[in-house]
Amino acid sequence: MSSSLISAAGSGPSLAHWEAIDTVLLDMDGTLLDLRFDNYFWLELVPERYAARHGLSVERAREVLRPMFATTQGTLDWYCTDFWSRQLSLDIAAMKHEIREHVRFLPGAEQFLRALRHKGVRIALVTNAHRDSLKVKATQTGLLNYFDVVFSSHSFGVPKEHPEFWRQLQAALQFDPARTLFVDDSHSVLRAAREHGIAHIFAISKPDTGMDKREVTEFMSVEAVSHLLEELSGRDHRPD
Ligand SMILES: [Mg+2]
Repeated sequence: MSSSLISAAGSGPSLAHWEAIDTVLLDMDGTLLDLRFDNYFWLELVPERYAARHGLSVERAREVLRPMFATTQGTLDWYCTDFWSRQLSLDIAAMKHEIREHVRFLPGAEQFLRALRHKGVRIALVTNAHRDSLKVKATQTGLLNYFDVVFSSHSFGVPKEHPEFWRQLQAALQFDPARTLFVDDSHSVLRAAREHGIAHIFAISKPDTGMDKREVTEFMSVEAVSHLLEELSGRDHRPD
């Protein structure tokens, strides 16, 4: 191969081959694990329990919770089980543990991780999940067996949406942004990674198996991580 990069069709971003990648950074929820669990947890179970705890109707509980969620999204508190336990007077970590059997890999995610193991790349889990959530999900799925290293943004004090997260990750992991692949389902997180200079970025367009595929125009995208094995194998490709 004369060049490690080929151009995507038209004026789209360039697409790497696996040979051009030596570090793979993967998000957890909505990228490897079905976001259905988290959506059920926050949109169904939490309003129900909050209503019961505070003597409200579930409908009223949703009205109270909506602005609290809206103002916190994208901050580290949004991902912090301790924060929400305090805010809502509910034991969020215990509730996650209670419904842990519903944690699932997204279709093809485990096969992808197994295949990645044979590619000789360094594999890092890069998550905004709090250690309590991470523990429940890792125990349930065995997810961490596939990783060389795990980073939770809580240990950096800033979420993945923040440029400082990427500076700290770079210092900790010493990755070459030009030879790094990053996959996430959050567009604000992908934007921060792109700003940091990570060359190979993919969005997941179907993070929740209970919902329709999302329209993705800003980034290259795949419906599931397993499609990356083919997408980066060298054939021509255009963004979805
Ligand atoms: Mg995610």
